[in-house]
Amino acid sequence: MQSTEDTIRSVVQEVLAELQKKNNGTSVPKRERQDGDWGVFADTDQAIAAANEGFAGLREASMEDRAKIVEIVKRICFEQSEELGKLEYQETKVGRLEHKIEKLQIIKKVPGTEWMKTDAMSGDHGLMIVEYAPFGVIGAITPVTHSLPTLAGNVINMVASGNTLVVNPHPSGKKIACEGVRRFNRAIYAATGLQNVVTIVSEPTLESAERIFQHRDVKVLCVTGGPGVARAAMSSRKKAIVAGPGNPPVLVDETADLDNAARSIIAGGGYDNNLLCIGEKEVFVVESVFNEFMAAMDRAGAARLNSSQVDQLTKAAFSPPENKDDHWHLNRDLVGQHASVLAKHAGMSLPESTPLLFGETDEQNPFVPEEQMMPFVPIIRCRNADHGIDLCEKYEHGFRHTSLIHSRNVRTMSTMGRRMDTTLFIKNGPSPAGLGLGGEGYLSFSIATPTGEGVTNPMTFTRQRRCVMVDDLRIV
Ligand code: NAD
Repeated sequence: MQSTEDTIRSVVQEVLAELQKKNNGTSVPKRERQDGDWGVFADTDQAIAAANEGFAGLREASMEDRAKIVEIVKRICFEQSEELGKLEYQETKVGRLEHKIEKLQIIKKVPGTEWMKTDAMSGDHGLMIVEYAPFGVIGAITPVTHSLPTLAGNVINMVASGNTLVVNPHPSGKKIACEGVRRFNRAIYAATGLQNVVTIVSEPTLESAERIFQHRDVKVLCVTGGPGVARAAMSSRKKAIVAGPGNPPVLVDETADLDNAARSIIAGGGYDNNLLCIGEKEVFVVESVFNEFMAAMDRAGAARLNSSQVDQLTKAAFSPPENKDDHWHLNRDLVGQHASVLAKHAGMSLPESTPLLFGETDEQNPFVPEEQMMPFVPIIRCRNADHGIDLCEKYEHGFRHTSLIHSRNVRTMSTMGRRMDTTLFIKNGPSPAGLGLGGEGYLSFSIATPTGEGVTNPMTFTRQRRCVMVDDLRIV
């Protein structure tokens, strides 16, 4: 009897090992397979319950296990970036393939357990320490613009601080998000025996998001998305960490290095076809250097549209407001498309490699107030730096997300920095420099703007617990 059982067990192990090799090249699971589809659930309540059980397991695990999980997510994103990036691009149909791949490769820059700390105070009355504890299950909502990168970054930050998460992905990026969750959980289980560290709803809807927002076992929300979801999360009764929309303006003043400004705007505004929430969306240029700046954009490889081409593109990209309280509506079919595709709508034929289109507009053009997420940036004349700062402030809409300046005048930089009051303020570089990509700092794809946590990191997802020893343990 025992030998029959042993034979069955060894056959099962062999099959699993084969599957494992086929699926992601990781090693054989230490224990037998868990229930469910490696964290992917059709039912929202089951996904929440599994993440809750996952939390019970993670609570008992060591910091070393948390560090292993962080390394697993980084390794899978890096080593499988080509395959996963392609899957994300095929499914979402927005952005540029090379940037989908790169956004997975750079996940290794997201901070993990090394950011966890303990604070202490000692004095005449002994010792007090503050430890940073997890909340439990975090409900995460992810965008279509970077489906798996956002999810992976959230897993690293949240698990480093001891939480598990249940994810409601964007419906147009759900398959790649589910595939990531399967691969992460499989490898995590093989390395640590922990299950359902991250769970996901396979058929996400507004109702499933709402269920997560309301469920008592979900302790905190972290939403990354546009105005609708930001509002919904902030009006729920839970603590919400909201990575909301932006419309990053750029000011180029008369002291700027114009060639560097042009190269930077193309690098940031053209990245993944301008899907980044931090990406340069409209550029205000001081009149005295306007023509010189436009020439610098030509030299740096962007394609210039004349005014009638800008008009044609604008008509294709937006439909007008329906009443006086309404605003322009984005044509979603053009969001994240290549500059060459937008160019066709302007009656031009350009190579697919064209990184960005640009053209002069006035401030009334909808490309200025709307977060277009397309590789066309409107360039608007301003009288001087003060006038430019006024316009930047107006069109950032108080999102407090990101603003940029190209200048050598520190007084202008300081004035604009104070006035804009944005979470990221980037000087003399492309927008990704604000996330540690070519500038100092660290990376996250969830930048909490209206709720104020900033570029999220493991400490964002912690609660403070104080422990006091009265009159003892001070050793000095
Ligand atoms: P989106 O708002 O259309 O969708 C985001 C997510 O929210 C999706 O999962 C969607 O299904 C869900 N959702 C939308 N409305 C909802 C509601 N009322 N209730 C519950 N869930 C809802 O955004 P998107 O097109 O996927 O992403 C682009 C937007 O996200 C842009 O506005 C961009 O600036 C923003 N964004 C911000 C950050 C940041 O870190 N601040 C990062 C990436 C994207």
